Amino acid sequence: TVGTEAGAQALAQAPVSALLTVVGGTTTVPLVDGTQRVYANLDYAASAPALEAVAARVAEVLPLYASVHRGAGYLSQVSTALYESARQTIARFVGARPDDVAIITRNTTDSLNLLAGVVPAGGRVLALDLEHHANLLPWLHADRSAAGHRTTILPIRATVAETLESLGAELAAQEYALVTVTGASNVTGESLPLDRVIELAHAHGARVAVDGAQLVPHRGFSLAASGADYVAFSGHKTYAPFGAGALVGRRDWLDTGTPHLAGGGAVRDVRTDRTVWQPAPARHEAGSPNVIGAIALAEACDQLAALPAGALAAHEAALRSRLVEGLAAIDGVELARIWADSDEPVGVLTFTVPGHDSGLVAAYLAAEHGIGVRDGRFCAHPLLAHLGASGGAIRASVGVGTTSEAVDRLLVGLAAYLSEGP
Ligand code: PLP
Repeated sequence: TVGTEAGAQALAQAPVSALLTVVGGTTTVPLVDGTQRVYANLDYAASAPALEAVAARVAEVLPLYASVHRGAGYLSQVSTALYESARQTIARFVGARPDDVAIITRNTTDSLNLLAGVVPAGGRVLALDLEHHANLLPWLHADRSAAGHRTTILPIRATVAETLESLGAELAAQEYALVTVTGASNVTGESLPLDRVIELAHAHGARVAVDGAQLVPHRGFSLAASGADYVAFSGHKTYAPFGAGALVGRRDWLDTGTPHLAGGGAVRDVRTDRTVWQPAPARHEAGSPNVIGAIALAEACDQLAALPAGALAAHEAALRSRLVEGLAAIDGVELARIWADSDEPVGVLTFTVPGHDSGLVAAYLAAEHGIGVRDGRFCAHPLLAHLGASGGAIRASVGVGTTSEAVDRLLVGLAAYLSEGP
C-alpha cells in the first residue's frame, strides 16, 4: 500500500469532493495496452477542470449573450449587469477594499503585463528569481512599457529567513515602487510568508503585487486582510474555463497609467489629434470583453467561497502529504524543495528521477497508467536552474476533484517505471 493512514483519515474528514464536483472527473483515456482508464488528472496547477456549477452557469447565461456597455437593447443591459456583477464578485473573492478596482483580463500573464505598464515612470520594481516567467518577463522587459521602470531580480537564498533578510537589505539600500512576489510557486507550491514580505515592502514605501495564479485557487487570498496592493490570477486555474482572469488592487496607478490595450470602450473622447482615456477599469478593457468568461469565473469564485473555511487546504494538504511520503518511499525519486524552512506548500510539487528523462517518465505515466502530470521547466527556468533541474522535472498538482486513488496511481506507476523501465 502507498500513502499514509494519517493522510487517509484527513481526507475522510475533508470531503471537498462531496461539496464540489468538477466536469470530466470520470473521463476515460486509452492506454497503450488497448484498455481504458479513468484519467488521473494531476495537473491542476496548469489548468484546473471547470466546476459543474460553472458549466451550468455558462449554459444558463449563454442565451443572454450580447454586447456590453454600449447596447441599448434589453439583452445588452442584462449582459452589462451580469458582467459588472461578475466584476464585483471577483473583487470580493480576493478581498478587494472599497476603493480597489478589478480589471477583467485574459489571465495572470495579461494582468501582470498590465500592471507593468502602469508603474509610475522611473519607479523601480523588485522581484525574486523564483518567479514564473509571467512575473519575471513583464518586469525585465520594461522597455515594453511606456513607464520605463527598472527592475532588480534578487537571487533566492538557502532559507526563507535569509531570503527575507536579503529582500529587506535590498529595500533599505534602494527605493522601490513595487515588490512583486508569487503567492505560491508553480514549481514547488512553496512561498515566502506574504505578511513578512508586505510588512518589509511597506516599511520601505514600496507596494506589493502578489502573483496569485497558484495561491488563489488553492488557498484563496484577501487584499484587505493581507494588506497587499495588487493581486493577479487566472480563471482557468480557478475552476473556470480559459480566457478570463483578473488584476485587482489600488486604483491610482490603474486610473492614470498607460492603457493596456488601445481601442473602443477605453476612451471618453477621440479626435484624430487627441485621445481622452477613461479611468480604470474601462481604461484597460478596450474591445469587446469576455463576458461569459467573467461570469464563469465569478461563479467559480462563489463556489469556492462557499466551501467551509480550510476545507480545500485540508483536502490538498492530505493529498500532498500522501504524495510526498509515497515519493520518499520510492528509491530513485528526488523531491524538489526551495527552502527547508518554508511553511506548508500548496498542492503542487515537483520531483526528478535522476538519470531518467522527465519527458519520458511523464509520457510513460500517461501511456501506461492514464496519469496526467506536467514535465519540463514549468515556465520558471531560473528556478529550475537553482534547483539543479535545468534538464527538466516532473510536476504533480492536486485540487478539488483529485482523489487519493489518482495519487496512489502515480506512486504505483513511478515504482513500476523504476523497476521495469518504460
Ligand atoms: N504565475 C504562476 C505562479 C503560474 O503558475 C502561472 C501559470 O502556470 C502563471 C503565473 C501564468 O498564468 P496564465 O498562463 O494563466 O497567464
